[in-house]
Amino acid sequence: MAADSSTKRKRKTSGTAADARDTFLRTRSDPRQEWRYDGGSSLPAVLTMVGGSLAALCLGAGVFGQFLREGAAPHPYALYLLGAGAVLAVLVALFGQWGALPMRVGDAGVAVERSAGEVDRLGWCDVNAVQLTATALTFRSPGTVVSIPVRAQREAAARALAEARTRIPGKVTGIQEKALPKPSEGAGRVLTLEPPQIAGLRCKASDKVITFERDARLCGRCGEVYHKDDVPRRCATCEAPLRA
Ligand SMILES: [Zn+2]
Repeated sequence: MAADSSTKRKRKTSGTAADARDTFLRTRSDPRQEWRYDGGSSLPAVLTMVGGSLAALCLGAGVFGQFLREGAAPHPYALYLLGAGAVLAVLVALFGQWGALPMRVGDAGVAVERSAGEVDRLGWCDVNAVQLTATALTFRSPGTVVSIPVRAQREAAARALAEARTRIPGKVTGIQEKALPKPSEGAGRVLTLEPPQIAGLRCKASDKVITFERDARLCGRCGEVYHKDDVPRRCATCEAPLRA
């Protein structure tokens, strides 16, 4: 207790810059970053495509050989081709891994790149449920769902779960500690985020509309938005300390 109050006194005398460093309070222009995970052409995705093409080829040739040869008996290999095509198609459906969409994880939450200019983003502060199944790690809010396929985007899923554990721990208590590996440092590419669009949003504490972006303050942990005059001691969403 005594040690605690003496640290507090020290912080007070050292001025507001030190206070800001000790808390999660951020302004709109403070640097933010995220990892981007390519969905690209991994080996499993290429093999899946080759397998799928072979299955289609076998099935096509089999159907032709068996049914479509005008005036001739079915080709002796046609049934084998049909069988092989069907087995391949089932294998691809069961074990295939299609290339996944690029995913992003970082200060602005989790996001999926639907196309070059279209990024579906879900901020940590808006997440109200996280679910891990055998196929996907899914983050939900009332309006948005971001689903990370755990086989094709394993590193992105590992990073997202690790970030969720520090940023919104209450939402991931139901997910086992060892459900996904620790994220690897070398995986993904670090991107600098643009400052967020805040004008028009409401302060989480006072419900005041934030008219000027310079009046906005952010929780650096969950991304919640506050008006500079109404910043609470602790973030209303993730309880991170905002004021010393
Ligand atoms: Zn927060």
